[in-house]
Parts: sequence; C-alpha cells; structure tokens
Amino acid sequence: MKCPKCKTAVLKKSAYNSQYFCDQCKGMWLVKMKSSSLTDISIETIDNDTVADNDSKTGLCPSGHGLMIRAKVDIDEPFYLERCTACGGIWFDNGEWLRIAENNLSDNLSIIWSKSWQRNQSRIKNRNSFLETNKKLLGEQVFREVMELSETLKNHSEKDRAIALLQQEILHEDAHS
Ligand SMILES: [Zn+2]
Ligand SMILES: [Zn+2]
Repeated sequence: MKCPKCKTAVLKKSAYNSQYFCDQCKGMWLVKMKSSSLTDISIETIDNDTVADNDSKTGLCPSGHGLMIRAKVDIDEPFYLERCTACGGIWFDNGEWLRIAENNLSDNLSIIWSKSWQRNQSRIKNRNSFLETNKKLLGEQVFREVMELSETLKNHSEKDRAIALLQQEILHEDAHS
C-alpha cells in the first residue's frame, strides 16, 4: 500500500492490524473496523511543515479504490479527513487523529461525512461567532446578565410578558419619570 500523500512511500503496518503509517509524512491509514476497537489506537504525531500541505490535497485510497471523499472537520482550526467509500478506510494526516480524539469524535467517525453532522457543525460555529460578537459589543457583564435572564425566561410560562415589561422599562422610561 502506498501513501496517498507521498505517493512513493509505502505504508507500514502497525502493531494493530487496522492501522498503517507513513514514515515520511506521518499520516495514518485506518482500515474499516468496529468502532469499539478505536480506543486502542496509538497516537503518533510529529510536528512538521508537511501537515497543512498534505491536508489540502485529496489522495487516492491506498487499497486502490480511487479518489477518497473529503469531509471538513470544523473545529478551532478546520481540517479535512478523507474516506474511501469503497472500503471505508479513513486517512488522517499527521496530527489529525489526535485532534479527533481530543474532540471526542473517535467513537463515531463516519458521522463526520453525514450531511446532518456537517450542517450542525456550521450551526454551532455560526452561533458561537454570533455570541462572541455580542459579547464584544455589549461588554462581559451586560452580556452575561442578558444570557442569564434568557436562560431563566426560556421556559417561563409568562415569558412574553417578561419581554414586554423589559421593553417597556427600557424604551419608554420617559413616560413614567
Ligand atoms: Zn506519506
Ligand atoms: Zn478503499
């Protein structure tokens, strides 16, 4: 099996049957297996400049099934995983497996290629940046108080009344002064 990124380098089988490594780029090929055994995987990372480079390329399945399918993992600094639709093998560039494990995604890797997961990820990202913007503009304290009040009112049976009262107090203060 050849490395999908280095092309000429041959992948080396690890102690675990499902794992192959490339000595050159430190990428990892994970052949399809039961998810329960994923926890046994050893983590090997070496920082080098090839990481970002390799991530931008889509490789061929080392088992010869043609081009793999990329999926964006949109966490902190986004990166791409690649999976072969024919054999289910997944390619990790150097360091990507560690980031998957750190974000508790290793138990159900295949969901990363699902539309619903991808949609949900971008929703979370949008919401976080929306909240960040508000926090910056409102200031920590006001932001926190508003969020706390929202949390309290969310499930309150009279929340519409509370919103109306809030609006009344804020916008029409002149009327009762
Ligand atoms: Zn390689
Ligand atoms: Zn394949």
